[in-house]
Amino acid sequence: MFKSLLANFLHLIFPHNCEGCGTDILNEDSFLCAKCLNELPETGFVGAALNPLEKRFYGRIKVEEAGAGFYFSKDGLLQHLINQLKYKNNRQMGHYLGKLLGYQLLATNRFNTVDALIPLPLNPKREASRGYNQSQMICEGIASVWKKPIINNAISRIIYTETQTNKTLSNRWDNVNGAFAVTNDALLMGKHIVLVDDIITTGASIEACGSELLKVEGLKLSILSVGYTI
Ligand SMILES: [Zn+2]
Repeated sequence: MFKSLLANFLHLIFPHNCEGCGTDILNEDSFLCAKCLNELPETGFVGAALNPLEKRFYGRIKVEEAGAGFYFSKDGLLQHLINQLKYKNNRQMGHYLGKLLGYQLLATNRFNTVDALIPLPLNPKREASRGYNQSQMICEGIASVWKKPIINNAISRIIYTETQTNKTLSNRWDNVNGAFAVTNDALLMGKHIVLVDDIITTGASIEACGSELLKVEGLKLSILSVGYTI
């Protein structure tokens, strides 16, 4: 009795409604009701080899396994959720989306040899203004159900200043708006790493970061994202 009164009281102070349809019938730690969750367009290919995301990296970088949880489309429900994570200071949304992806990972053995998760490093200026890296939040959500450690101090993103820029490098990284550098080889050597991003569209940032990671001796690279743009 007291517990339900308390729950009702908390609900009044902190309204907790489905991000899809607005109903308040949902679990405490969920952002979607069962119906809206069901409508989130799952790719169904996290457990499938030779899937479209893997093919996107053919001829670019060597990838062991790649997977994305949901199709991302402009104005779709997933875009609304990702916007909450990236622009509305909603870190819990990253945990929620990461968990959804984590459950998909539990249902397959494709990624079983992965040793650790690495969130795609964010441009430092953007991370400072946002207050966090959204991919870090997603990693924490994944790791809460799919028990793998997170390594977040072994590779970082660098902004090249005018004087440091060399022409060909700046052309090459043009779309990535920065470059990546491994800062701790020892943490990565011989490991199977899965690089995690929120949405993969062209995959340019993943390619840039992944190619740096692959310079580490014995490193194997896999890729995961919550959203995948066709
Ligand atoms: Zn709903």
